[in-house]
Amino acid sequence: MAGPERFRLLPKAELHVHLDGSLRPATLIDLADAAGLPLPTREPGALARHMAAAARDLEDYLSRFALTVAVLQTPQALERVAYEMVEDAAADGVRYLEVRYCPALSREAGLTLDEVVAAERRGLAAGERAFGVRTAIINCTLRHFAPDLSEEIAEASVRQGPHGVVGFDLAGGEADYPAAPHRAAFAIASRGGLGLTVHAGEAAGPASLREAIFECQADRIGHGTRLHEDPELTELVRERGIPIEINLTSNVQTGVVREPAVHPVRRYLDAGLRVTLCTDNWLMSGVTLSGEYAVAAAALDLTPAELRQLILEGFRAGFLPPADRDRLVAEAAEALRGLV
Ligand SMILES: [Zn+2]
Repeated sequence: MAGPERFRLLPKAELHVHLDGSLRPATLIDLADAAGLPLPTREPGALARHMAAAARDLEDYLSRFALTVAVLQTPQALERVAYEMVEDAAADGVRYLEVRYCPALSREAGLTLDEVVAAERRGLAAGERAFGVRTAIINCTLRHFAPDLSEEIAEASVRQGPHGVVGFDLAGGEADYPAAPHRAAFAIASRGGLGLTVHAGEAAGPASLREAIFECQADRIGHGTRLHEDPELTELVRERGIPIEINLTSNVQTGVVREPAVHPVRRYLDAGLRVTLCTDNWLMSGVTLSGEYAVAAAALDLTPAELRQLILEGFRAGFLPPADRDRLVAEAAEALRGLV
């Protein structure tokens, strides 16, 4: 058995996927209709192609998120999208799913941060019961936000910890907005026991990665595509065992790497770094996690041991409490036996 089907059957963990980038096309159409919002097309296949097409520029790319965020302004819409993500994850062989979203984006119609996350949680919990996928939430703040808004989101995230929020993330335009102004928000999240991850080393280089690690105390790095440009920092990431959430296709789409075959994840594996594969966005990147494993296996010449390591790292690097995480790792290792 070759291609994505083989990888669909393997148990996997997805640590980096954005809720607002992962709606089903048909659901986006339903929700836009209900809200009276226009779309570039009302045919699901054409809409999927539009959302995942190479962007002309950043404005064009961001306009697609404007479409999805516009429909994510009611508890019902958030709950539905979260639930469907669990259903789609289950169908793709995902056993552990960390969904990330910036709850401040869903306040346009008057929802509070707590109401947004509660709706997201209801959808994930219902999906968890129906499909047996363990789920958790990472709340994002965005680089262009004022630091006090980041701190407000961090405080809400800590408050929501008992309700499924396990992590705090910084996303958004990396090139123009440094991470350092958000350090107080990360300190709040850290004191509250949340896992910390930062999008870094994608649109910007090692300086941005240094800020993520030294200013925000990141436990994990999202992307880390340009980490290899700084050998000293690469060694520090290896020594500290900081896991990197790799997004192969997304990095090609944004032009950070030319093609999967030259993605630095190959070098990271060889150097003994902790890496796992993720998707970034199911809709905007036009990918599934099993598809990304298929791309990696074909382009990077993965050995069975490396494939197993990439998969298990996804479970090991999760932000769940250690006992829950260890149980998932053990179950995944057992399920992989004989398959890889
Ligand atoms: Zn991302």
